[in-house]
Formats: sequence, C-alpha cells, structure tokens
Amino acid sequence: MEKETREISLTCPICKKKNTIKIPEKILGQKKFGSIKIQIPPGAVCPDHQFIVFLDPKGLVRGYEKIDVFMGDEHAESEQKEMKTEISVNQLVKQFGLYGLFSLLHSKLFNYHSYIIREDTSNFDFQKLNEFLNDISDNDYLNPQDIEILEEQNYEGLKLDKNNTLLINENNNIIHTPWNEKLKLEEEFIRNALDILNPNEQKIIIKQNVNSFLKKVKHTIRILEDVKKINNQDLTKKISKDLNLPEPNNNEIEMIKEFVIRNISKKLGNKIIKRTEAFLGSL
Ligand SMILES: [Zn+2]
Repeated sequence: MEKETREISLTCPICKKKNTIKIPEKILGQKKFGSIKIQIPPGAVCPDHQFIVFLDPKGLVRGYEKIDVFMGDEHAESEQKEMKTEISVNQLVKQFGLYGLFSLLHSKLFNYHSYIIREDTSNFDFQKLNEFLNDISDNDYLNPQDIEILEEQNYEGLKLDKNNTLLINENNNIIHTPWNEKLKLEEEFIRNALDILNPNEQKIIIKQNVNSFLKKVKHTIRILEDVKKINNQDLTKKISKDLNLPEPNNNEIEMIKEFVIRNISKKLGNKIIKRTEAFLGSL
C-alpha cells in the first residue's frame, strides 16, 4: 500500500539547521501541476527563519530561496482591529505566508489563473482578498483574474492548465507555480509596505510601488514601438533618463519584459534582448 505522506529532509539556507517535514504523497508526481514550492514558516525547520524549498516531481530538493522580509507586526496587529472594512497586509501574510502573498500578487499582475484550496475550518473572506488584490494590481492592460476557491475534496479531479495556473494549498503551505522566475519584485513591494507600521498605509505603499512599475512598463512600450531591438542595458539607461528615475535593476527589466509579453504583445516584449544576444546577432 502506498504511504500517505513522505518525509523530506531540509536544511535551513540561512543557519544550516536540519529537520524533516512531511508532505502528502499525492502532491508529488502530478503532471498537471507546475513546479512545487513549499513555504517553510519559522519554527518548522529552525526556530528563526522562513524560506521556500523547491521540489522536483520526484520529491527531491532542487533548491532553496530565502525570504528577506522582516515581520515585526506586534504593533500593527493591535492597530489593525480598528479597520474592519478592508483586509490588511498583515492579515494576508498570516493567512498565506509571505511567499503565498508574493505569488498571489504576481499571479494578478502577470495574468495567471489562481486557485486556493481552502481549509475546512477557514472563515477567511475571499471576496475581500480579491477586492484587495484587484485594487492594488489594477492597470490599463488587463483585468486581474479573480482567485477561485476550491474545497479540498474537489481538486483532484480538476483539469488545470499547469502553464497558467497558480495553486495554493492553505492546509500545508504547498504552492504550485506555473513560473520559474523569483518573485523579487513582489518581495520588494511588500517589504516596503511592511516597513510602514500603520496598516492603513501599507496597501497604499504597495499600490504606489505597482504604479511605479507600470509607469516604467508604459514607457517601455513607447520605446519598443520605435525600435527593432533594444538590449536590457540600453533600456535601463533610457527608462532612467527619460523618466528621471533611478536605474531599474536587472530583475525589474526582466519583469517589465515578462509583463509586456504576457499582457500586451509577445512580439513587442521579445524586442528586449540581452546584451550578449545583441553582440552575437551583429556577428
Ligand atoms: Zn535557520
């Protein structure tokens, strides 16, 4: 008979302490899902750190990613009770973990479909989750897709497009992502927000960060319409000069390209090339 869970040995990527976690056997070897990531909260492997572990379909550890966001939320927690109408960033982190929240925001911005497998006992307001995320990711190029809620028993028979579907399991911190890129942009947006103690302002900060990103996207589209190709370094300099902003980092340029490809035009987005490609192309 098949075992229901498998023990996987993990090492904290920060302090190198080791521990094992159990994950359901049925998660592994599922062809319909994208890459498997497990969000490890503080206390699960070592007392202090949280991180993401990447598994291949056989259950082998393929890598770790640190999450560089500090949650000092005792303060915010008490203030939060005063606002009842909206979800706060802290509540979202509590519900889905930091990486879960990065993934949901990424999914909204880059037009993926998201499912959350709901915990039986959950009384979380998913309507408000959609409102919150749609509000911060709202833009001229797409209407963010609503996150759908699944009950645990219903998802096994479900047909999912693994290239376009994010799946988060509330019960066990397992996240199936259709993308491979790191979520550094979303991490930065949310880190900037969590630096602000007043929870009412946290959402505004995320929205400002998203808008600043979209402004660069918009300008990039203008640039791309007039060129055959442009390498990422020239694009970086041009965005910074034209908009009078600090130079976007490599990751941000990659995400601008990804945004254009997924939401506007693949052909336009692919005009952005790496400098080495430009060099080889001229030979
Ligand atoms: Zn650690």
